[in-house]
Amino acid sequence: MAINANAYTYSVPASDTDIQIGMRVLVPLGNKQLIGIVLNLYEDNPNGNVTIKDIVCTLDSRPVVTHSQIQLWQWISGYYMCALGDVMAAALPAKAFDRTYSLDNAAKKQKKPSDFADETDDLATLSESQRSALDSIKHQWQQKDTVLLYGVTSSGKTEVYTHIIQQTLDQGKSVLYLVPEIALTTQLTSRLGRYFGSCMCVYHSRISDVQRMQTYKRVLDSDSPLLIVAARSGIYLPIDNVGVIIVDEEHEQSYKQTEPAPRYHARSVAIMATRIIGAKVLLGSATPALESWYNATTGKYGLATMEERYRGLSLPKISVIDLNRQYHRKEMYGHFSDPLVERIRKELADHKQVILFQNRRGYAPLTVCRRCGYTPRCTDCDTPLTLHLRERLLKCHLCGYSQAMPSVCPQCGGEMRTIGYGTERLEDEITQLFPDAKTERMDWDTTRRKNDYQEIIDRFSRHETDILIGTQMVTKGLDFDAVSLVGVLGADHIWSQPSFRSYERAYQMLEQVAGRAGRKDKQGEIIIQTWDKDNPVFTYLTSHTYTAFLNDQLPERRQFRFPPFYRLITVVVRHADEKKTDDAALLLAKRMQQVFGKRATGVVVPLTSRVQKLHIRHIQLRIEKEANINKAKMMLTDLIRETNGTAGYGSVRIYADVDPM
Ligand code: ADP
Ligand code: ZN
Repeated sequence: MAINANAYTYSVPASDTDIQIGMRVLVPLGNKQLIGIVLNLYEDNPNGNVTIKDIVCTLDSRPVVTHSQIQLWQWISGYYMCALGDVMAAALPAKAFDRTYSLDNAAKKQKKPSDFADETDDLATLSESQRSALDSIKHQWQQKDTVLLYGVTSSGKTEVYTHIIQQTLDQGKSVLYLVPEIALTTQLTSRLGRYFGSCMCVYHSRISDVQRMQTYKRVLDSDSPLLIVAARSGIYLPIDNVGVIIVDEEHEQSYKQTEPAPRYHARSVAIMATRIIGAKVLLGSATPALESWYNATTGKYGLATMEERYRGLSLPKISVIDLNRQYHRKEMYGHFSDPLVERIRKELADHKQVILFQNRRGYAPLTVCRRCGYTPRCTDCDTPLTLHLRERLLKCHLCGYSQAMPSVCPQCGGEMRTIGYGTERLEDEITQLFPDAKTERMDWDTTRRKNDYQEIIDRFSRHETDILIGTQMVTKGLDFDAVSLVGVLGADHIWSQPSFRSYERAYQMLEQVAGRAGRKDKQGEIIIQTWDKDNPVFTYLTSHTYTAFLNDQLPERRQFRFPPFYRLITVVVRHADEKKTDDAALLLAKRMQQVFGKRATGVVVPLTSRVQKLHIRHIQLRIEKEANINKAKMMLTDLIRETNGTAGYGSVRIYADVDPM
């Protein structure tokens, strides 16, 4: 159902004496009746003498949204420049907008309050460095609301979190534990479930709407403290009783929602939420975001570090293989360099497991006619189609469009060839190389059904699989003891994206992949194949000096006016008609430059300039940290409104993406 994004004023009949802020009400709007949330109550009509309609009725016997939630919604709406109704629609489970649905029914239908056992294990005893990190975090929370825990992979951050959780629960306060979506389907929840049992609940987009409603209600009503393990949308829950918010893997890009509005970053919202509810934030990562690192080293946040892996394990050894040299000497098998093949062979002989990482799914990202050079592209997006050989389809990875794989060039009848490679192709090559090894592929295509993901993980942890080939999915929080080697195939395209964050992101991704190797008894090894072996990322990565890498990035960020020194807002202009998109963007850019001077760029054509039939243009705004950002946002809102109000541009979609990734 469409949700109306505005706030309206209604009168309350004298008979509705029980109405309270945060209750759902049925209201007339136009010739329809809609569900709304009471945001405020006034004694007199705040609009003066303007006549207003009565509400139809209240739908709840008590508030379903708390004052602090409403306060947070208002902050999100202002900060991220979107309608309050967009925040409300994102914040509440869709069932909340179903008139026949009452929160109390949700609870009655729930047989068992939790999926986790009542019996629990004792927490692990912390090592000395873990204990001192814990003490340091608690100490710094006395002065600062937000503390960053920077701990290398396998240093035991999760164990430190469990102690914080336990201590917070013991004080009668709840804990909100945010994790990237994918981590929720894995080992983490069962690990936490063993410690915290039935006082734990999970909240993410893969549970049903009814379950979401039940968890919402449990959080709203619970008399006893809870551990709420949630994806980014967990920040919308009624968390008034939360004492600590943990943001695990805080550098993860998936904490930022890009579509639809609100385009929020869960880390920023978490920090704001704790100000409203009077709680503390713990950000944790082995590869903190540059912004967080900067805030932690300039005194805005506290900082606690764990520089050693648990039980003194060494960090993995990282080797870089120069593809220029390998191809020149013809020391390649398919897309695998000879040294990588030899290492895989050795690990398999020792009954070890291997992970191969390639962040691209499908067989090949490009098909081209050998004769006329024709490349099949998406009809609705400005992007070439990826070949999926198993299904014999060409697919658009942006919109899902697919067509049959042509046997010859549809233009000239010539022979088609493929360029580049994805996980499917690597799977074929590896199977040819090691026909006796058990190989599995984990990517979006092999994990479509509900249990696929878990089953692949389970087979791999039981060592029924020798080689796991996968996209980013293999990098997230998995802990396999027998993995001694991780091969990274296509590292280069991680930083081929034109973003000021591309090196940072590449480092983070590679260090996370590396963290999968050698977690128990011996040093793991990472082999990275690259065309760009002199890239500065490798200099730091091979010596595991992440913070030196970050410090090295800072001067460039300052020089080119990027975060953490400037705040960015990307204004996005979209329309089906290309000329109209260009013209509206030009008009807006011109007005922005008049108002903001050099802080506004001209019109930028993004790398993918058309998605799902809509042309896209960007205008970037860079505002100094010291400047009044609220004022800038207000002026920008006016300019956008003005552009939309110009004759012919009413249908052009224009919105702001604040703190874009
Ligand atoms: P991180 O979250 O920093 O990557 P984990 O908390 O997952 O690290 O710890 C890595 C491994 O070491 C896990 O298997 C964990 O159970 C084990 N471990 C860490 N600290 C302890 C401890 N104090 N006692 C027992 N096992 C620990
Ligand atoms: Zn498409």
